[in-house]
Amino acid sequence: MKKSRTSISEKITTQRCNLCKELVSSRKCIVHGYGDPSARLMFVGMAPGRNGADITGVPFTRDPSGLLFQECLIQGGFSFETDPCCERPRLKNVYVTNLVKCNPKNAEGNNRTPSLEEIRNCASHYEQELADINPEVMVLFGKVVTEHILKKRISKFSVLHNKPINLENRILMPFIHPSYVVRGAYNRQKYIDEMAGLKKMLKRD
Ligand code: URA
Repeated sequence: MKKSRTSISEKITTQRCNLCKELVSSRKCIVHGYGDPSARLMFVGMAPGRNGADITGVPFTRDPSGLLFQECLIQGGFSFETDPCCERPRLKNVYVTNLVKCNPKNAEGNNRTPSLEEIRNCASHYEQELADINPEVMVLFGKVVTEHILKKRISKFSVLHNKPINLENRILMPFIHPSYVVRGAYNRQKYIDEMAGLKKMLKRD
């Protein structure tokens, strides 16, 4: 059955979450997941970036990580857009969200890693998305997200990059975070090609 486009976002947007005092005072907006409600592939980031999603309200847009990610989606055939600068991208067969829906800042006003308490506070939003989308494959961006979802500590994240893990009838793909590639720590075209290669992981056509 085709899922309705509103069923996912409405459940979350109608709640004005005030659980994390620090995030409530620093966030510009609550950043909900978006994409194809029938997606078989779901991307999970950590939290909205202060120069991107916290301003646009859409995960992985505007900032350098967002632009790279949108370029990956376009080149991989996961987006109807042609311009990575698009801030309301219409996506094909993918859904994109963050573990935490508000931007966490440190004392200097820079992005920081969300605390365990903040991740726990946000878990019901993420779990609702997971239940609604029920993806075959989940791409986990970076060590924090992967550790949280696998529920175990990881000593060397890079060895897990782009290697499938079967868990509860689903394939999890730990994946280097786009910000790492933006910093020049990983080859950009290789990363774009690997993201496009995720299509092969989907069972049904
Ligand atoms: N932007 C997001 O929306 N999530 C991240 O993890 C990083 C940047």
